[in-house]
Amino acid sequence: SKQEKNSKNDECVKVVVRCRPLNSKEKEDGRTQVVFVNQSRGEISVTNPKGDSAEAPKVFTFDSTFEPEVEQETVYKNTAYPIVESVLEGYNGTIFAYGQTGTGKTHTMEGKDEPKHLRGIIPRTFDHIFRSIKGTPNVQFLVRVSFLELYNEEIRDLLQKNIKKLELREKPGSGVYVKDLSTFMIQDQEELREKLLHGRENRAVGATQMNQDSSRSHSIFAITIERCDIVNGESHIRVGKLNLVDLAGSERQSKTQATGSRLKEAININQSLTTLGNVISSLIDPKATHVPYRDSKLTRLLQDSLGGNTKTVMVANVGPADFNYDETISTLRYAHRAK
Ligand code: ADP
Ligand code: MG
Repeated sequence: SKQEKNSKNDECVKVVVRCRPLNSKEKEDGRTQVVFVNQSRGEISVTNPKGDSAEAPKVFTFDSTFEPEVEQETVYKNTAYPIVESVLEGYNGTIFAYGQTGTGKTHTMEGKDEPKHLRGIIPRTFDHIFRSIKGTPNVQFLVRVSFLELYNEEIRDLLQKNIKKLELREKPGSGVYVKDLSTFMIQDQEELREKLLHGRENRAVGATQMNQDSSRSHSIFAITIERCDIVNGESHIRVGKLNLVDLAGSERQSKTQATGSRLKEAININQSLTTLGNVISSLIDPKATHVPYRDSKLTRLLQDSLGGNTKTVMVANVGPADFNYDETISTLRYAHRAK
């Protein structure tokens, strides 16, 4: 309802931007950097490489901006940390990585296992969750996990051997769910890591078998934490869910190249990312009366974790180089609208 909507405050939705460094290929090719981050002001500015020298850089402001040299730990503290804390208290939360392919979505979400300081948001949430659970010995916790992929509006379970299409169902009262999606009970961070690796492997194998490109799919790693507190001899159960979402690449498909199934795929990706942007911007806009969750499977899947008593952060990733100018501007506009 309208009233419920207005009770949300916009601190529940954060939009941040991260710019990756120029890579060695870009340096070799003599590419220039056109993106500049002012972290302390939350600003990012972009110079048009084709513009004349009088053209002012375009400046955007976000809840946070991260410069190319930023540490993974800093990104974690400023984005995921408060969300994981509130999931441990029984609220839902969602972390998205958005951006053109090659700008660092997977680096932000997963990072590298070695050296340890390169670990991304997902492995850090594993440690955070179990450190907190071990530090709260009087409360019983149950941790479950599921991992799915949304490709071309089809849902696939990444934790099952036979990758088959799953159906989205709706139950009055309990909302939207995926029929037959497998969930696993988890005892420690090592088991979570195994599930992540296993799902990642299934995703790659499935993509090869079906001749698909995994940068064209969305993946959702969902951790559900149930806690049972004993208060005055009575047990109180709270359930929080954390969705860790690596979105499909946001790049525009060239209109002349995309035909047939590639075109259908591009249209589906556009539709789901556009709907996601619309949902986030209407959650933030106090005047909006309708949140269009139903317009895509992605937002229907995440409906219970977007809006209401939930926390959301979108990390928009951009590349620094001149030849990415158009995509970078388009990502910043998307992210700014979502803000
Ligand atoms: P995406 O998932 O958006 O397609 P990736 O995360 O795979 O992009 O990043 C592309 C490449 O750039 C990878 O080799 C990755 O290690 C590297 N990279 C991305 N972001 C950074 C960063 N902030 N620092 C160092 N390397 C990065
Ligand atoms: Mg990726």
